[in-house]
Amino acid sequence: MKTAAEYLDSLRKLNLNIYMFGERVENAVDNPIIRPSLNSVAKTYELAWDPRYEEEMTATSSLTGKKINRFTHLHQNCADLVKKVKMQRLLGQKTASCFQRCVGFDALNAVDSTTYEMDCALGTGYHKRFRDFLRYVQDEDLVCNGAMTDPKGDRSLRPSQQSDPDLYLRIVSKEAAGIVVRGAKCHQTGVINSHELLVMPTIALSGEEEKDYAACFAVPSDSKGLLYIYGRQASDTRKLENGSMDVGNCRYGGHEALVIFEDVFVPWERVFMCGEYKFAGTLVERFAGYHRQSYGGCKVGVGDVLIGAAAQAADYNGTAKASHIKDKLVEMIHLNETLYACGIACSSQGCATASGTFLIDLLLANVCKQNVTRFPYEIARLAEDIAGGLMVTMPAEQDFRHPQIGRYVDKYLRGVAGVPTEQRLRLLRLIENLTIGSAAVAYRTESMHGAGSPQAQRVMIARQADLEKKKKLARVLAGIETEE
Ligand code: SF4
Repeated sequence: MKTAAEYLDSLRKLNLNIYMFGERVENAVDNPIIRPSLNSVAKTYELAWDPRYEEEMTATSSLTGKKINRFTHLHQNCADLVKKVKMQRLLGQKTASCFQRCVGFDALNAVDSTTYEMDCALGTGYHKRFRDFLRYVQDEDLVCNGAMTDPKGDRSLRPSQQSDPDLYLRIVSKEAAGIVVRGAKCHQTGVINSHELLVMPTIALSGEEEKDYAACFAVPSDSKGLLYIYGRQASDTRKLENGSMDVGNCRYGGHEALVIFEDVFVPWERVFMCGEYKFAGTLVERFAGYHRQSYGGCKVGVGDVLIGAAAQAADYNGTAKASHIKDKLVEMIHLNETLYACGIACSSQGCATASGTFLIDLLLANVCKQNVTRFPYEIARLAEDIAGGLMVTMPAEQDFRHPQIGRYVDKYLRGVAGVPTEQRLRLLRLIENLTIGSAAVAYRTESMHGAGSPQAQRVMIARQADLEKKKKLARVLAGIETEE
């Protein structure tokens, strides 16, 4: 396994073509806007070396028998699935942000079982190629970006009907040594902190006219033809200011980027699907299912921090003994633990796929994510209620530290006696960061749209729920039918 320092060094060796604020980023690792997101991924390396977290953070490779970082592991049983959720909650607690590495982790597991089943059905040879790639990822302890979301253009049209065929990533040519792909992937979480991109189709595909969109492959993140355009976040330029208070969480963060594939060449040994459109749906469904499970861990960990911050703010404000504040904290805990219960439930009810890799219970994973599209918003609303309006009206750190006016900020923005004003302000900035600042990307909007927007889960819930079986239960008890 790599250490966090080795991970940082490995990123310095990459030559990524990144743009941010209209300028090329020459050194992403030390860029003050990007660095907090890198620190979050580095935490996945750091904690893997901490004996306290060995159980959650590491695993024994099913391919090599070596000890590996869990983020590169194929789930071998339900216990592995449960440990994954526990690991994600832990990392959410330690970073209060999106630590990004789960997307590739989920993609690796989804591609594993899908390629196996594709080979069985079609006689292709993708699974061995994929496992060779995975062995390399495990041995080098790499971060994979799981790249699924295409731009999609006009949502009412299929990929082949779009006015611009590149709005869904596609194979533009097949050559003796490999394929050439063109298109883009949007909202790519952590991609600039990744060594490899594992690319998948974005929707279920049907018909020969869609086979060029059935592409799954892996490319190094600094491959020729790749371009990254960094996504903005609320209050992102606060990271450029002097001081550490106003960012709220100055050490950790997350990022998303738009990735352009301008005729990128992929050698055959890294191609895991090439035209087998009937299996695109399976791959999408499994990847989405795993990532919907993931939210029952990561968002819960961030929720733990937000609940703790709200409770601490109540202490600092002198409101902790008010019965409505206590009740609001209980409500936040109830909502957060309900999300965790869903994450654990879909994991413990998982089952083996034909490749031996374990898959979560898809119905419960979709219920988990559906709740995640709602509960963090209510938790955030309650946190803002408890924190008070000062969270969004207080002066800047520069005013607090100013030689003439700073004493007024210190005097008039103090809460209970005995707690320095700075502590109160720091805590309120953390709540601001999580609820409406740059981390709200991860806690709120990512909860809504990450791993698929709410309607995508409702479609899956309808498909998985077996309503006919429930109707039969009712018919039997109503005396309409007899039990078989
Ligand atoms: Fe991991 Fe959560 Fe970020 Fe997805 S949103 S990559 S599950 S931390």
